[in-house]
Formats: sequence, structure tokens, C-alpha cells
Amino acid sequence: MRFMTCVSLSLCSLVGLTCSAEAQQPPQRGIVNVTGQLYRAQNNNHFTVFLATPDGIIMSDPINRDFSRWLKAEIASRFKVPVRYVLYTHGDWDHASGGVVFADTAEFVGHRNMLRTLAAPAGSPALPAVALEMDANRNGLVERTEATGATAVRFSLFDYNGDDVLSGAEIARGSVGDVYPPTMTFADHHTVTLGGKRVMMTHLGDAHADDSAVLHFPDERAVFSADILQVRRLPGGLAPTVGAWIDALTIINALDFEHALTGHALAGTKQDAADALRYVEDLSTGVAAGVGAGRSLVEIQRTLTLEAYKGFDRWDTNREAHIAAVYGTLRGVRTGAP
Ligand SMILES: [Zn+2]
Repeated sequence: MRFMTCVSLSLCSLVGLTCSAEAQQPPQRGIVNVTGQLYRAQNNNHFTVFLATPDGIIMSDPINRDFSRWLKAEIASRFKVPVRYVLYTHGDWDHASGGVVFADTAEFVGHRNMLRTLAAPAGSPALPAVALEMDANRNGLVERTEATGATAVRFSLFDYNGDDVLSGAEIARGSVGDVYPPTMTFADHHTVTLGGKRVMMTHLGDAHADDSAVLHFPDERAVFSADILQVRRLPGGLAPTVGAWIDALTIINALDFEHALTGHALAGTKQDAADALRYVEDLSTGVAAGVGAGRSLVEIQRTLTLEAYKGFDRWDTNREAHIAAVYGTLRGVRTGAP
């Protein structure tokens, strides 16, 4: 227990250091042309895309309020048309925050599950374990002065009712307090048309989050997906199952495109999207073969090296956890791996 406290304290100080270091440096921002009137915009390690039409802009994730203010000003000076649509890839706070900046001119479109993502959970869930450690006065709530780490940094985004205290429900809901809710939702597919251009949204099932959509720009032959599609980079976690990831990446790969645009790091090509699918398929069949041959998890982690992906970002850090996650699913046990 003492060890755990020590670990969480040092993590918190690390988070604190990172944040103050970031605060001193201006965020890395920029806009690059992808093709035609389609652009990719950067805020540090987060990316969004937008399509300029004569009647206005169709953009994807707003990322955060400060970035959105910057992007709004850039768009106004370069294109002289307002943002008409904000199309969400999913409801996670680090991609979907800040849309209120565009609320004076834009419609907001997201998968219908996003409304559930943003809603306060029913009932009064108890504080999760990580928050219980912060609850020094043991009143079942986390006061602002008690919060540490990411909870402290994003306290206001968790504090749904603005009372300076976080309940179990607010912590379970997540730091989505600055996510502007979709004004229009869809179930499977949705097409937005503006200024002679089309953008198609397709639900990606349960991979990563159950409100994820891929954006397809058919005239530009481009797709945009945040957190599911990666270019020469392994996924973070494989929640809820590797099967959900295979399904989602199969949906993306079935689209007609050349430009594979991602919410983090590199952008790439159709071949990169195919490689992303092949990784989760190779992982799945490799672990299944190991289980079929009676190997232990450790043996499979040692032998299933997935060398073809060795040059990919996170191959060295995430591959073994991915094997453990697939192994857990196949054996019907949750391993706690992502
Ligand atoms: Zn996400």
C-alpha cells in the first residue's frame, strides 16, 4: 500500500512537471494541405482535418478550446468562410473538447453513443480506486485541494456541476466537461454535403470507444480516424477486444481512398491502413496459434515477435501488452491489459 502511494505520488509529480513544461512552450501548431481543399491541422500530438468549400468549412475534431480559437482565426483569415460542420471522430476529451468556439455557425455531428459518453452516469457510483487514494478526508468525494495528477490538471473538465467537488459519477463520466454535444446524431452512416462537397461518416463499432466514426472524403480520396487508424504505429490499447479492432479497421480499409489521415503522429497511405489491419490480424492469429499449441502467455510473448512491425512506433512498448490482451480474451480471462 505504501509502495502504491509512493508510485502514484511520483507519477503525479511527473504529470505536474510535464504540464508546467508544456505551459512554458507555445503549442506546436500548423496547417498542411493534403490534397485539393482538404487540410490537416496540428496541435502538438493531436491532429484534425478540415475541408474548405465555397459555402463554409467542414471540420473534424476541435481538440481543445485554445486550439479551436487559433484554428477559427486561421480559417477566417485564409478562407473567409465560417465553419459550418464539426464532425466528431469520438467523444474522448482530448479530441472532442472546445467545439463551443464554433457553436455560433456550426452543426455538430457525432455517433449517437456520444450522447451517452457525455451523460452523467445513473445512480451514485462509488469513487474508483485511484480516486479513493486522493480522498484524504474520506468523505467519498474528491475536493479540488485533494485532487492529484491528471485529475488535478483537468479538474474543471471533470466538475460537471461546477461545485469544486468531484463525485464518483463525475469521475466515471470523465473529463468531458468542455465537449460540445452533437446537435445531430446517427446510427450507422451519415453524409454531410456542403458547397458541392461530401463527407461520409461511418460508425466503427466498439473498438477504442463505442462512439467512433471514420470520416471519408470521397472526392479527395481521404479518410480520417482518430485513435483507431494509426500509421506505422501500434494501437494504444486493444479494448474491448482485438476482434472489434479487426472489424473497425476492415470497415476503414473497405473505403476507397489514398490518403490515410490520423488523429496522432504520422499520416500515410492506403497501404499504411492495410498494414494497421494486418497487424491486428497477425496478432490475433499468432496468439490463437500459440494457445492452440498449449503455450503459456510468457512463451507466446517471447516467440510471437511480429517482426514485420518492428519499425513501427510502440512496437517495443505495446506488443507484449497486446499479446496479453488477446490471450486474455481467448482464454476468457481479463488480464487487466489495455
Ligand atoms: Zn480516444
